[in-house]
Amino acid sequence: MTVSSLASVYVWSPNTSGIRTADISKVTVHHMAGDLTVEQCGSIFASASRQASSNYGVGSDGRIGCYLEEEFHPWTSSSYWNDDRAITLEVADYNLGDWSPSKAAYQSTVLLCADICQRYGIEPTYTGGTDGTFTEHRMFAATSCPGDWWHAKMPEFVKDVKEAMRGRYGVPIECIIHPDQSGKLFFVSGATITYIPHPDGAVAIDKVADACGASVPHFELGTKAAPWGFRFFQATGNAELYHEMIG
Ligand SMILES: [Zn+2]
Repeated sequence: MTVSSLASVYVWSPNTSGIRTADISKVTVHHMAGDLTVEQCGSIFASASRQASSNYGVGSDGRIGCYLEEEFHPWTSSSYWNDDRAITLEVADYNLGDWSPSKAAYQSTVLLCADICQRYGIEPTYTGGTDGTFTEHRMFAATSCPGDWWHAKMPEFVKDVKEAMRGRYGVPIECIIHPDQSGKLFFVSGATITYIPHPDGAVAIDKVADACGASVPHFELGTKAAPWGFRFFQATGNAELYHEMIG
């Protein structure tokens, strides 16, 4: 039985049709319609009378809970067909107004989906229809789930999942960048970008790399007029960090 290594909380649910009959080929992101912790969401699905479940839940603190091992068919999407082939996730709503998740929950959701897609050989696609590998509850029932924020975000979310797959498993990127003449330094490792608050941080990274027989390239990326730095942050799912640190 399979659980992502990214999960840290386990609350088992009895609500399942048993072992799937279809191969796992899709992922469906739902929203909890509330800001529940992964334990709270799990305790709802642990009740047989709720007749609902999901494989995973993601809380606003970024922690991931598992409620049904991946081989089990969850009751999440109002569609036997979808739930038989999709791993389903419930993400907490940090902002109850637009049903948007916290930054931590979003990043954990991206990483969990990248992990699932990598392990099952799923190419992340969103077509707006049931033929994409990322589907939504609203495609199968009269519901707004996963809410307007996630629905609008789906194309960019799928791109972020792809980038995370490259960052974690594919093209190794390790460098220090100076984006868009901002005078700020960032360390890039895979799809993760970290702000370096003091130039000595870059010196320390160079010293460690050197001691390990490696070197970390430094370079200017983009200018104010041609902001390739921003494009890079955006493509790797770090646009918020860019806005925070650079504007
Ligand atoms: Zn749903």
